Amino acid sequence: MSTVELREVSKVFPDGTVAVDRVDLEVGDGEFMVLLGPSGCGKSTILRMIAGLEDASSGSVLLDGAAAEELTPKERGVAMVFQDFALYPHMSVNDNIGFPLKVSGVAEERRGDQIREVAAALGIGDVLGRRPGQLSGGQRQRVAMGRAIVRRPKLFLMDEPLSNLDSQLRAELRAEISGLVRELGVTCVYVTHDQAEALTMADRVAILRKGVLQDVGTPTEVYGKPATLYVAAFLGSPR
Ligand code: ADP
Ligand code: MG
Repeated sequence: MSTVELREVSKVFPDGTVAVDRVDLEVGDGEFMVLLGPSGCGKSTILRMIAGLEDASSGSVLLDGAAAEELTPKERGVAMVFQDFALYPHMSVNDNIGFPLKVSGVAEERRGDQIREVAAALGIGDVLGRRPGQLSGGQRQRVAMGRAIVRRPKLFLMDEPLSNLDSQLRAELRAEISGLVRELGVTCVYVTHDQAEALTMADRVAILRKGVLQDVGTPTEVYGKPATLYVAAFLGSPR
């Protein structure tokens, strides 16, 4: 089980930029939460604080009720996927997916089954011997996801994972990612600037503007009953 709680969380960078401004947000166990907003509104900064890659300037980030910064990476159980994949180009797909297992000391003979299971679930079981350079963009993103989930994280964080792909592939992967995440039952915080992506994938959407949370709700709620004019305009809600 895994829940995320942000309590009055702010992030002010040393140059004075207020990236996140007193955000209160709860993500329930097994929930698919999308953080939506235009570039620069603080989405990545929030995700990085949840991942423990960045400390909050004030307020608290709680994972299962415990302060995120006091947990070890293992206790956090977080896996993260970025838009630029960041696969190891010199390693096979098999070794890319298996890398986190290797690092955490899983014996080689036990890794194979786990890698194959994840690869099969992602539809890349037939390219395990290839290197990233020999794959399509969609396959590379699936490998990145495989590498993130192979250790069965409690919490899955994704930062605009589809933004470098063409629109047809994006639509395909949207359905795949939300299907897979729900199948695994893992709690997910997914960042995007794409309204359609957010509304089709999310259990709930949190809409940000300049570091301030504007609205939180199911896609039907935020689209049908936007909390502010900004949210209505941003989502293109009917008037
Ligand atoms: P998003 O992911 O929504 O595009 P970010 O969280 O990356 O937004 O950035 C939020 C704001 O914080 C932006 O104004 C950005 O320029 C600023 N910012 C991000 N990282 C830093 C940093 N290390 N130092 C100063 N400002 C930063
Ligand atoms: Mg970002």
